[in-house]
Amino acid sequence: MVDTRLETELRGAVERGELISAFQPQFDLATNRIAGVETLCRWRHPELGLLMPYAFIPIAEASDLIHEIGRFMLDEACDAAGEWQASGKKVCVAVNVSPVQLTSDDIVDHVIELVRRLEIAPDGITLEITETSPILDLEAAAGRLKVLRRLGLCISIDDYGTGHSSLSRLDALDANELKIDQSLVKSNSAEVLAHLEGVVKYAHERGIGVVAEGVETEEQLARVKTLGCDRAQGFLLGRPMSKRDLDKLLVSSD
Ligand code: C2E
Ligand code: CA
Ligand code: CA
Repeated sequence: MVDTRLETELRGAVERGELISAFQPQFDLATNRIAGVETLCRWRHPELGLLMPYAFIPIAEASDLIHEIGRFMLDEACDAAGEWQASGKKVCVAVNVSPVQLTSDDIVDHVIELVRRLEIAPDGITLEITETSPILDLEAAAGRLKVLRRLGLCISIDDYGTGHSSLSRLDALDANELKIDQSLVKSNSAEVLAHLEGVVKYAHERGIGVVAEGVETEEQLARVKTLGCDRAQGFLLGRPMSKRDLDKLLVSSD
C-alpha cells in the first residue's frame, strides 16, 4: 500500500526538485587527505520529511523510475566534479549505479554527453556498481561499462562481502576499485581479517584500489590501514553532508 503511494509520488519528484544529494568524503589513508566524495541520494518528501535511499531506491529499481533518478544523480556528481576540477581540487566523485540502469544504453550516452559538455576529466568520476538487485544480463552490462572505462571513467564494485558482489565481478566488469562493505570492516573475527588480507592482496596485484566503508571507530581505522586499504569512508571521518559543508571541508583540508 505504502509502496504504491510512494511510487506514485516518486514519479515527478526529480522534476519537482524534491531529490537532493548528500556528499560523503573518502580519505586517502597514506596522506589523510580527502581523495574522493560519494554522492548519496535523499528524497525531501513534502509530508514524510527526509527519506533515505532504502525507503525509495528499491521502489525506483522495481519500476522505470531508477533511470530518471540515476540521471539526476549523474548530473549532480558531474556538476560537482566539474566545479571542483575547475578550482584545482583533486577529488574523485563517485555516484551509485543500479544494475537496472545498466540494462539500457541511455547511461552510456548520458555520461558521454556530460563529460563533453562539462569538459570534465573522466577519471574524476567513479561509477559504483551497487548490486542491490542482481545483474541479469552480465554481458550487456559489461559491454556498456567497457565503453565508459575506455572513455576513462573509474568503475567500482560496491558492497564487497554482501549479496551478489564477488571478486569475479572485478574482472567481469573491468573494475579498478573495490569497496569493502561495512559489515566486514566492523568484524573482529580472525577469519574475516585473514580473508580481507587475501582480498586486498588480490586487488593490489591487479592494480585495483581498495576502499573500506563504514569506518566508525579508531580501532576499525587502524585495522583497515594495517590491511593496506587505500581509502576509508565512514562516520568517524565524515558523515554524508550538504555540498556547501563539503566545500568548506575541502577548503579547510587544503
Ligand atoms: P552505499 O552505496 O553502500 O552507501 C554507503 C551508505 O553507508 C550510505 O547510506 C552512508 O550514509 C552509510 N554510511 C557511511 N558511513 C557509515 C558509517 O560509518 N556507519 C554506518 N552505519 N553507515 C555509514 P545511505 O545514504 O542511506 O545509502 C544507502 C544505500 O542506498 C547506498 O549504500 C546505495 O546502495 C543506495 N544509494 C544511495 N544513493 C543512491 C543512488 O543515487 N542511486 C542508487 N542506485 N543507489 C543509491
Ligand atoms: Ca556506494
Ligand atoms: Ca557500499
